[in-house]
Amino acid sequence: MAERIAVFPGSFDPITLGHEAIITRALTLFDKIIVGIGINIEKKYLFPVQQRKIWIAETFKNNPRIEVDTYSGLTVDFCRKCDSHFIIRGLRTSADFEFERIVGQVNKKLYPDIETIFLLAAPEFSSLNSSIVRDIVINGGDASMFVPKCVAETIQEGQYENGDK
Ligand code: ADP
Repeated sequence: MAERIAVFPGSFDPITLGHEAIITRALTLFDKIIVGIGINIEKKYLFPVQQRKIWIAETFKNNPRIEVDTYSGLTVDFCRKCDSHFIIRGLRTSADFEFERIVGQVNKKLYPDIETIFLLAAPEFSSLNSSIVRDIVINGGDASMFVPKCVAETIQEGQYENGDK
């Protein structure tokens, strides 16, 4: 049987424990998960894309079934390139659902062979998002309880650059 490959697209600015939980759970459904960091030139990021990529690679360094890559352009084109027919998205709230419903239906029109698979956020992560983590970091607070250890360490050591490079 062909390998079942899924793409988990997002900004991951930075990766949080909520993202990590979704990726880990999706491993039971797919042979390989490609975490795709989407680069949108109109969006402002707090952390450089290379840093975000390093954090994801480090978080999953012991799992060869999880890969990370960056892409610009349409998510469905990235899926085609990766030979993937599945997009994973996490759902936290009904607002997430309304947004994802539109994106998922448009993606299906653009690439009929794609299916979007939604995983419900675990209750302990349903209020967590990268933007809250960025606010805490920008204001000098401690975000370590919301992010993988490697992210917390880099931030604590101040070893990251701001902005997108
Ligand atoms: P985007 O800019 O595409 O929303 P994010 O990095 O914010 O990128 O999110 C990527 C994916 O992870 C989205 O499907 C989002 O719903 C999901 N996600 C983000 N935070 C959580 C969380 N705490 N629990 C479950 N899913 C989450």
